[in-house]
Amino acid sequence: MYIDSHCHINFPELAARMPEILARMAENRVTHALCVSVDLPDFPQVLALAEQYPHIYASVGVHPDYADTPEPSVEQLLALAQHPKVIAIGETGLDYFRLQGDLEWQRERFRVHIRASRASGKPLIIHTRAAAADTIRIMQQEGAGTDAGGAAGVMHCFTESLEVAQAAMAMGFYISFSGIVTFKSAKELQAVARAVPLERILIETDAPYLAPVPHRGKMNEPGFVKHVAEYLADLKGVLLAQLAQQTTDNFFNLFKLVR
Ligand SMILES: [Zn+2]
Ligand SMILES: [Zn+2]
Repeated sequence: MYIDSHCHINFPELAARMPEILARMAENRVTHALCVSVDLPDFPQVLALAEQYPHIYASVGVHPDYADTPEPSVEQLLALAQHPKVIAIGETGLDYFRLQGDLEWQRERFRVHIRASRASGKPLIIHTRAAAADTIRIMQQEGAGTDAGGAAGVMHCFTESLEVAQAAMAMGFYISFSGIVTFKSAKELQAVARAVPLERILIETDAPYLAPVPHRGKMNEPGFVKHVAEYLADLKGVLLAQLAQQTTDNFFNLFKLVR
């Protein structure tokens, strides 16, 4: 069994194909998926999916790429995170690749999410792109890690160096690999994945984006997380069953879910 720890199945292109998507999950033994919120106006659809399907979970947060969207307060995030199917805060973080200029608002928004995570005890889903040093610095300053009484979380769709992975793991964070790790060109990332201990790894699709080989270039969906698992098992020289079991256990441990 596999768990897709990060997808956006509420996006219209996937939501319109829900029966097919759920069928492919079942066919590929993808038992659960976490549908990740990107802004507050979309949150009701994310939550509706989690309420409708027992094996779909939700998060609440505002993505750093969404500039023109209502800014969340700690209180708002806490109120929305009270729902039992909302298991995480995010996705949040920093993205200096997609947006440039004065991004102080992104850093402030990130701090708000970390405060909500600490106050609710729900782990963070962190997106970081071309901003690793600031991301780690703010995580440390705001006490995101378990070492500082935080709830930790996951560095999603990880594409950074081993040093960044180690800094996050030192704070109790997990490292999530997406279809990117299966791309031929991703040699450096593959070396990072080889070095990250199995006990710290989650797998994800980030659907509808970033479909893994052999579906590269097509629309991604949670069922395809199986290909990320297969690739990582090969890369790390472990049995697929072991990788599937460990990443599943990691997901349930991080999000404190009872099976
Ligand atoms: Zn992201
Ligand atoms: Zn995402």
